[in-house]
Amino acid sequence: MRRRLLYCLLLSACAPTVGPPASTVVGPTAPRPAIVTEPATAGSRPVAPPPAAAAVERAADFYTWKAAFRDRALRAGFEPAFVDAQLADVRPSDRVVAMDRRQPEFSKPVGAYVQAALSGDRVSEARRRAGEPWLREVEARYGVAPEVLVGIWAQESAFGKVQGDFDVISAFATLAADGRRRDWAEGQLLQALTIVREGRRERERLTGSWAGAMGQVQFLPENYLRLGQDFDGDGRVDIWTSDRDAIASAAALLADAGWVRGQSWAVEVVPPVGFDWSLSESERRTPARWSELGVRRADGQVWSAADQSAEATLIAPAGASGPAFLLFPNHFVIRKYNNSVAYALAVGLIGDYAAGRAPLQRGWPAESGLSLDQRTAAQAALQRLGYLQGEIDGVVGAGTRAALRAWQKRVGLTADGYLTPDIVDRLRAAAAAS
Ligand code: CA
Repeated sequence: MRRRLLYCLLLSACAPTVGPPASTVVGPTAPRPAIVTEPATAGSRPVAPPPAAAAVERAADFYTWKAAFRDRALRAGFEPAFVDAQLADVRPSDRVVAMDRRQPEFSKPVGAYVQAALSGDRVSEARRRAGEPWLREVEARYGVAPEVLVGIWAQESAFGKVQGDFDVISAFATLAADGRRRDWAEGQLLQALTIVREGRRERERLTGSWAGAMGQVQFLPENYLRLGQDFDGDGRVDIWTSDRDAIASAAALLADAGWVRGQSWAVEVVPPVGFDWSLSESERRTPARWSELGVRRADGQVWSAADQSAEATLIAPAGASGPAFLLFPNHFVIRKYNNSVAYALAVGLIGDYAAGRAPLQRGWPAESGLSLDQRTAAQAALQRLGYLQGEIDGVVGAGTRAALRAWQKRVGLTADGYLTPDIVDRLRAAAAAS
């Protein structure tokens, strides 16, 4: 156990990706940042109050929130002395607020996201990890395929190497005080306090990402309490340093969300020339009924019994010129972890490669990222043309894609619901002419 911990710490130190630097840790064992630390908007926006005043205001808001939350915690049955001790050193974290409010200017194309997830030595490490004998025991108990668990392990923490070292209680306190997701953050904070009160994890070791996701499988406190597993049998649920506890906990989460033993998560398919792409992302059919429309498996294999009996959805996440997949219900179970098609594709494909399945037959097309302006312009045009209702938020989700498919079908374009710079320009022109 101790060796494993040291190994993780060493690798964390050199991991290049998303973990925050140690200096941002906010907690009783870390150097305490001053309350006023926000230099961000200095001078750039004359209507805003001076930065020091804004930070003082935010700190004042934080202490108002803290007093109200203390009452809520006492009503939830916590002892005053315990709550006061746990919250005494908590300060709002500017870094948590900045991460929570971050809105990337460019959306990352799905193909680029997936290819990045499969790059470097990720796949070879996944293949090696998938062979660990204890994963078979996890599969026997929870019914989830080892390679899918390995895919989640890769995506959530690069196999434990990037877990985040924020003080989880401070992270949720900051998010709650900031107010955008107050109820949710306060609920998680109460669960985090429960973990400490019940002695399941020491406060100074209750660490996670800026958003409070903990350990190798990035569990929220609520999931840790409800679904955390002590698979190595030492009496503790340790998703930070015990590989077995962490991966069994992920398996328990997927099983709880309805994972079907033996069913695929997705299978690459090849739709026929002239396929009606407006059926994608909407119709649910068995593989046999898809094959009646000329949709065949890319690898030429036969369907398993578990897949034959399931209804699947067809998607072409990078448009009609990229790979197409039949998504089985297990795909949507993976999305209980993170509700993103790209995330689930990355997890599933890492797993497929780890299990030695055939690589994708069709490559990812060259894609350009779309700016926020392009995405909102497309939504505004679809709204003006009568295909889209609701908020224009620049998030190209299922609703926007369905509206786009309906418009593409009407004007005689390939109705794949895939937004490209060219389609944005056509939409703008059509809306201007309407
Ligand atoms: Ca354990």
